[in-house]
Amino acid sequence: MTRGNSTARAAGIVTVVVAALLGSAYALGRSLVPDQVPGLSTGATTRADGPHYADQPGGSEPSGTPSASTGPAETGQDGSAPGAGTDNLFGAHATSGSPRLALTFDDGPDPRYTPQVLALLREYDVHATFCVVGENAQNHPDLIQAIVNEGHTLCNHSWHHDVGLGARSADAIRADLLRTNAAIRAAVPNAPIVWYRQPGGAWTYPVVSVARQLGMTPLHWSVDPSDWELPGAGKITATVLTQAEPGSVVLLHDAGGNRQGTVDALRRILPDLTARFELEALPTDPT
Ligand SMILES: [Zn+2]
Repeated sequence: MTRGNSTARAAGIVTVVVAALLGSAYALGRSLVPDQVPGLSTGATTRADGPHYADQPGGSEPSGTPSASTGPAETGQDGSAPGAGTDNLFGAHATSGSPRLALTFDDGPDPRYTPQVLALLREYDVHATFCVVGENAQNHPDLIQAIVNEGHTLCNHSWHHDVGLGARSADAIRADLLRTNAAIRAAVPNAPIVWYRQPGGAWTYPVVSVARQLGMTPLHWSVDPSDWELPGAGKITATVLTQAEPGSVVLLHDAGGNRQGTVDALRRILPDLTARFELEALPTDPT
């Protein structure tokens, strides 16, 4: 074997090793990409019974089941990817910043479920935070008013539940967030809107920056029962009660699909949580 052949063979081995390493890195990278961030499409549709945010790729919705009367099985939007860490939060808050526990309700308001959630919170004298979608705020100003009048706080959740918003230009992000705030303020002119939650938790540096520029603090979560996957009230209840701790921000949904399981879980969750923790609406003066 000549020296030249040996060198070529060594180079070939190096190439194979590098390719293998790149393959591993690619697989690792893929595993870190949240499943619910498919790209720029929001996947949202508006149906007679309200908007549905179907931005889970290859979602769990069985074919042929959509029903305008009951709503389809939902392919949801704000869940945490398995193994997702905090490195991709770009500084978004994942806890309440105090010993108090914060319940958050996303994607509404929805006339089927938001009033049920409000009634349960009232029954247990609990205040929470509602991350509302701009188009839903525009369509249901009465529910936005009810949320504020009952002492809950507001969070901007983009105009059309745009999971890919963070990849758009800063100007496009700003326009989306301002349009959403305008729809909220049309219902409640003086209510503070100091929190922003990115749909899908798909944070990027631009979306965090623009939210901050507009006076809103980026808000993530620390407890996620994946209620949008419709696991049933029992599983939602068990996850929340098992994982709740002082400072938790709990992610729940009062809209975006069939949320009766979440409402039923809330009925079981509230007696336990209120016995163990002080619950709060996230403050309107976040530090
Ligand atoms: Zn959402």
